[in-house]
Amino acid sequence: MTDLLPPTPSSRRDFLRALSLGTGATLAGASALASPLEWLAPGRKLGVALVGLGNYSTGQLAPALRQTKFCQLAGVVTGSPAKAAQWQQQYGIAAKNCYDYKTFDRIIDNPAIDIVYVVLPNALHAEYVVRAAQAGKHVICEKPMATSVADARHMIAAMRKAGRKFSVGYRLHFEPHNQEMMRLGQGQAYGKINHLAADNGFQFNNGTPWRVNKKLSGGGPLMDMGIYCLQGCIYTKGQVPVSVTARFIPNPDPVLFNEVEAGVNWQLRFADGAVADCRTSYAENMPGRLRADAATGWFELEPAFGYGGLAGKTSDNSGKLNLPNINQQAAQLDDFARCVLQNQPTRVPGELGLRDVQLLEAIYRAAETGQSVATKDVVQLIDRTSMR
Ligand code: NAD
Repeated sequence: MTDLLPPTPSSRRDFLRALSLGTGATLAGASALASPLEWLAPGRKLGVALVGLGNYSTGQLAPALRQTKFCQLAGVVTGSPAKAAQWQQQYGIAAKNCYDYKTFDRIIDNPAIDIVYVVLPNALHAEYVVRAAQAGKHVICEKPMATSVADARHMIAAMRKAGRKFSVGYRLHFEPHNQEMMRLGQGQAYGKINHLAADNGFQFNNGTPWRVNKKLSGGGPLMDMGIYCLQGCIYTKGQVPVSVTARFIPNPDPVLFNEVEAGVNWQLRFADGAVADCRTSYAENMPGRLRADAATGWFELEPAFGYGGLAGKTSDNSGKLNLPNINQQAAQLDDFARCVLQNQPTRVPGELGLRDVQLLEAIYRAAETGQSVATKDVVQLIDRTSMR
C-alpha cells in the first residue's frame, strides 16, 4: 500500500513537476492513485498569479479564485504599486508574490506560483506567455489568444518547449448552457444542422481605449466579442468551416473607430452545405445569441455568452436548456488546476486558440477583399465538453 502514501511536502512539487512533464508514468504506482488531487495538502492549492489587474481580473477572476477548490490567488503582476498594495491587503497576497512588468521574470524562483494567468490587452499576450513559459510556469492566456497566427504559433512552441500546460481563457466551455449546445448539436439531437446564427456586441464607450487601438487590440469587436459567435457556431455544429465571407458594417463614428472596425457581419460555410450567419459590433448593444436550426427542430441560447443569466429554449420545449448558471471562471480555473495536477490535457488548449486566430484572420481578409476565403487549412480541432 505504500504506493498510496501521499508525498512529503518537499517531494510533492517534484512529483507535480514530473507529472506536468509527462514523466509521471515513471513514478511507481502513480496510476494506482484514486486521484492526485487528494495529495493537495490541507490548505494548499495551486497558486495563480494574475498578470494585469484590469476589469476582468478585478471583477471576475479574483472573485472566482475565492471559490475555486484546487487553486487560489497567490500573486499579481501590475505596473501600479498602489494596486499591488491594495491587492495585497484585499486578498492577503504576500509582498514577495507581487511583481511589476520588469521584475516579472523573477517569478521563476517563486514556488508559490504554479500558474500564470495573462489578462493583458491582446497584443501583449504573446510576450507574457513566452516569458511565463521561460519561467517554467503553467499558463492560461485570455482570449483572443494572440493578435496574429505567427504569435499564436510562437506561444504554443514556447509552452511545448517548457513542458508546461497551456490553455486559453475560454470560460464558456465550462458553462452548462453552452456545453448543452455542444451536446445537442454535435450529437445531432435535432438532426443535421442546416443553419446557425450568432450575434454579440455592445455600445463601446471608450472606457478601455486599448480596445480601439489596433496595435494593442489587433482588431475591434470581432477579436473581442465576435470570437464567441465564431466558436459558438463551430462547437454547436461540430465542424470547422471550409470558407468565410464577410462585410464591415458602415462606420457610425470614424473618429472613435479610426483604427478598428465598428462591426462586421460574416458567414461561415461548412463542408455539408450548412451556413452560419454571425454579427458583432461596438456600435450596437446585443443580448448575445446562439441559435441552431436543424432537420427536426431548433435550439437556442439568449443570452448566450455573458457571465450569468444565460437561458435557452428548444423547439419541442424539452427543457434541455433549462440549466443552472454557475461561476464560469471558477469552473474554468479549477478544471485547469485539475489538468495540471492530474497531467490531463485541457479541453481549451493553445491549439484551439490558434484555430480561432486563424479564422479571425480569415474573416478580416474576407471583409477587406470582399472575396470568399478558404479556411480548410486551419487547425481541425473541435471543442468538446470533456477531454476524458
Ligand atoms: P482592461 O483594460 O480592463 O485591463 C487591462 C490591464 O492591462 C490594465 O490593468 C492595464 O493597466 C494593463 N496594461 C498593461 N500594459 C498595458 C498597456 N500597454 N496598455 C494598456 N493596458 C495595459 O481590460 P480587460 O477587459 O480586463 O481585458 C484584458 C484581457 O482579458 C483582454 O485580452 C480581453 O479580451 C480579456 N477579457 C476576457 C473576458 C472573458 O470573458 N474571457 C472578459 C473581459 C476581458
